[in-house]
Amino acid sequence: MAGKRVTGRDGQDEGGAKAGLPAMDISLAFPQATPASIFPPSASDYYQSDDLLTSEERSIRMKVRGIMEKEIAPIMSAYWEKAEFPFNAIPKLASLGVAGGTIKGYGCPGLSITASAVTMSEIARVDASCSTFILVHSSLAMVTIALCGSEAQKQKYLPSLAQLTTVGCWALTEPNYGSDASSLRTIATKAPGGWHIDGQKRWIGNSTFADVLVVLARNADTQQLNGFIVRKGAPGLKATKIENKIGLRMVQNGDIVLNKVFVPDEDRLPGINSFQDISKVLAISRIMVAWQPVGISMGVFDMCHRYVAPYVLTLLSSQVSERKEAVRSPSGGVSAEPREARPDAR
Ligand SMILES: Cc1cc2nc3c(=O)[nH]c(=O)nc-3n(C[C@H](O)[C@H](O)[C@H](O)COP(=O)(O)OP(=O)(O)OC[C@H]3O[C@@H](n4cnc5c(N)ncnc54)[C@H](O)[C@@H]3O)c2cc1C
Repeated sequence: MAGKRVTGRDGQDEGGAKAGLPAMDISLAFPQATPASIFPPSASDYYQSDDLLTSEERSIRMKVRGIMEKEIAPIMSAYWEKAEFPFNAIPKLASLGVAGGTIKGYGCPGLSITASAVTMSEIARVDASCSTFILVHSSLAMVTIALCGSEAQKQKYLPSLAQLTTVGCWALTEPNYGSDASSLRTIATKAPGGWHIDGQKRWIGNSTFADVLVVLARNADTQQLNGFIVRKGAPGLKATKIENKIGLRMVQNGDIVLNKVFVPDEDRLPGINSFQDISKVLAISRIMVAWQPVGISMGVFDMCHRYVAPYVLTLLSSQVSERKEAVRSPSGGVSAEPREARPDAR
């Protein structure tokens, strides 16, 4: 019957075509392309930003670039394809030495804000998902604990987060409150020895596997925003992966449901008493977010440069020979004059 395709048990289409077979190796299918897993060297210091850096800042930039190109790029494509998180990459990301960014002490690197920003762009240059993972972990979860946590909380949580032996996430956005996050509805009610948190969060990066979840909620008494450290596996906590993303596929964004999750008093962040306190954290993290597109653009430039460089060289060498030929024989039909100098130029 016309239009009906019959498929055999081995996936072979009886009309002749095959379905479900692995993709052809890219070196055969499209030999002029090089896969992203072999990352090209940096072709330019686009904004001449190296000139503005101290020697320490340049050196951490080069260290991060080297690890990202050699250790991370080769493994990312498969995870991007499957939209899975590469847990085996965590020790390599830890070796970048950037988790905790500008935070001083508690095992954190204490980088300058410029070093933290350029390293974020170097991570994003090779893999935007990795930079989002680090950003959520470091510039949101860790910075909140560092700026708004008690001394005991900093000592307890920051050292392992800096080593990436534990992973953090930061839960502000809710299904109905994104851009207008200050109106969020998740509620924190005082209970003996702690708090009960009830509500929902959406889009929370790293939340499906994070050990430490920094959760922002409205205090039922004061109606102001408070912050809480919720631990992985807390009863009443459920995080479910958001599927079918077309970008940042490796980042595990989660929908979180908090159903009477108990947080002991010692895990309430004492420095968060209103949305203004959250704004201090956002002021730092948004600078880092802004450096992600800088890095992504650098990576795109390097990829494009690798792709077009052979053609440009061929084109240039043929133009040079053409011009040499024209100079040797002016009547040979090729004008050596620039086009705009010719009488027919419009
Ligand atoms: C990959 C990814 C990772 C994320 N990670 C985290 C995380 O770790 N933690 C976290 O808390 N959140 C996270 N988010 C959520 C993010 O902060 C929100 O997506 C963002 O705040 C926007 O909210 P929204 O998605 O609800 O969009 P909306 O607020 O619904 O906005 C949708 C569109 O409407 C526009 N808009 C909204 N309000 C107005 C207005 N008043 N006037 C004109 N235009 C308007 C917006 O500009 C936007 O274009 C993440 C999101 C993504 C995509």
